[in-house]
Amino acid sequence: MAAEKGNISIHTENIFPIIKKWLYSDKDIFIRELISNGCDAINKLKSLSMMGEAKVENDPKYYVKVVYNKTNKTLKFIDNGIGMTDEEVKKYINQVAFSGAEDFISKYKDKIDEKDQIIGHFGLGFYSAFMVSDKVQIDTLSYKEGASSVKWICSGGTEYEIAPSDKKGRGTEITLYINDDSKEFLEEFKIRGIIEKYCSFLPIEIYLEDENAEAQVKEESKDGEVKKEEPKPLNDTKPLWRKSPNECTEDEYKDFYKKVFHDYKDPLFWIHLNVDYPFNLKGILYFPKMDNTLNTIEGEIKLYNNQVFVANNIKEVIPEFLMLLKGVIDCPDLPLNVSRSFLQNDRSVMKISKHISKKVADKLNELFKNSRDKYNENWQDINVFIKYGCMKEEDFYDKVKDILIYKTTNGEYITLKEYLEKNKENHENKVFYTTDEQQQAQYIKMFKENNIEAIVLDAPIDSHFVSFLEMKENGVKFNRIDSDLSETMKDNKLSEEENKEELDAQVNEITTIFKETFDNDKFNVKVEGLKTESIPAVILLDEQSRRMEEMAKMFGGINMNMPSGEESIVVNRNSSLVRSLLEINKKEDRKEDVKLICRHIYDLALMSHKTLDAEKMTKFIERSNEILEKLAK
Ligand code: ADP
Ligand code: MG
Repeated sequence: MAAEKGNISIHTENIFPIIKKWLYSDKDIFIRELISNGCDAINKLKSLSMMGEAKVENDPKYYVKVVYNKTNKTLKFIDNGIGMTDEEVKKYINQVAFSGAEDFISKYKDKIDEKDQIIGHFGLGFYSAFMVSDKVQIDTLSYKEGASSVKWICSGGTEYEIAPSDKKGRGTEITLYINDDSKEFLEEFKIRGIIEKYCSFLPIEIYLEDENAEAQVKEESKDGEVKKEEPKPLNDTKPLWRKSPNECTEDEYKDFYKKVFHDYKDPLFWIHLNVDYPFNLKGILYFPKMDNTLNTIEGEIKLYNNQVFVANNIKEVIPEFLMLLKGVIDCPDLPLNVSRSFLQNDRSVMKISKHISKKVADKLNELFKNSRDKYNENWQDINVFIKYGCMKEEDFYDKVKDILIYKTTNGEYITLKEYLEKNKENHENKVFYTTDEQQQAQYIKMFKENNIEAIVLDAPIDSHFVSFLEMKENGVKFNRIDSDLSETMKDNKLSEEENKEELDAQVNEITTIFKETFDNDKFNVKVEGLKTESIPAVILLDEQSRRMEEMAKMFGGINMNMPSGEESIVVNRNSSLVRSLLEINKKEDRKEDVKLICRHIYDLALMSHKTLDAEKMTKFIERSNEILEKLAK
């Protein structure tokens, strides 16, 4: 074959500036492209040999080698795959955008069952080499009998040179003459880092070598035995997600998680995705240990295309709320080198995203049904994620709404339905909850004494989630434990010796006593008969106005003259202290004592509700001393 010159044919215009500038904003990926071309070349040869269309040596050891040479400023990509004849070089390399893989697949599509292993989606992959090179050279020898080696050289324009090569073995060697701006790509740690990022799970073994070190070792071994270590590939050619789920052990899942996500803790559980129809999707999603706050959760979903890493956290493919998880997703059907706006409008991408969230919902349902204990146990760790998912995605909410559970003040886990059913005698369609078991301990105690339970909603997301649920669950109202009383806690039936008028008079009297004591009308006074006689009064804070206030606080606007939440004091007319109070109120000379007791009742109720501020606390202590002095007289 004689040396030949020609022009790379590009049908419309010169495509190089485009490739160089914006098709690949990330230079690193040329390494991914060239290595995956090597893997493709080997997979093609494997398929041909399996079909009996190509002769290869017995038990061939396939590899892709990346060889750097700092002295010569070259970076080589060597594979022992299918190789190219001079005609193929002209066809596949010179005609940019004429994808050889497409050609190959259409020719053999009926015979190959492993066609999903061929990376054919990257389109202009080979030309990414020009992002970092002044010159690129290909030396290749086709597997075909009687083929001779070919050399192709191009310096980045549309001109190329093609000539015979002295390459010996079958396969392809691509030499990049690295340009001055890209010297970093001659550094071992840099190349290794990129290979580990993109190629950790490629199906063919990848090796990294220093050409100069190789030469040194050869020299040394002349005069002594230098034992050369067996080189190790940089990648895991059989990543766990490609195995069938029933062949994977629990330890394998955990080890894989720890290795890929550099976590020392075990994941809680995982979902192995394995779909062939209507699209191809494999992967493993892990639920990591989380805590109650959303901001500390940092998920990571790695997206692969046929074992080639593409990117992290592509939100078009993976539902946003799933980004809180960690996992790998391998999706060969996606044309991943195209722009994000394409992904956003692509129907199959939407389907994939839907499918993934459906699978997650299925897994949660399965856990709920078959391992309720484990589900309860993990609820603390996963609830934020699930609640977030519900608010983000209608479909997801519909699938998990019946398996949302709540911890009760008795330490059990129940669903909303179960709670409502259990408490419908006490209060219909009302859910009592506590946001802080410490602070609201007195209320919890009172509820417990009346055999009523509340649920614990103490994560920051819960305040939003409560409003969300009220919107979704028709008629259900959530009330913080300090905002209202359950009907069963009250005992307003008239006793035999009482009559309606007397009762009204009593209620009026109590109200007046309290109103007169606190002449600044800051709170409402209500009178109820409560079953718990030991409690003279409780403070209630209106649910809606408290929520408004919290919301205003969250958006930073608390300085506005917001009226602070509607506060009421509920005075318990069944309490013996209140009854005594009414007795001494009849005596003219005890009016001061009545006020003293009223103030103290109020402060005690307030203390069970929140911490007193400095001024209130000082007054409370002074008054306590005053009371003790009176007692001591
Ligand atoms: P794609 O991989 O999407 O086909 P590329 O630009 O990466 O696009 O490669 C173009 C074509 O060049 C390939 O389809 C293949 O036919 C040929 N080719 C590239 N690298 C190699 C290689 N290492 N061995 C054999 N053929 C190769
Ligand atoms: Mg390619």
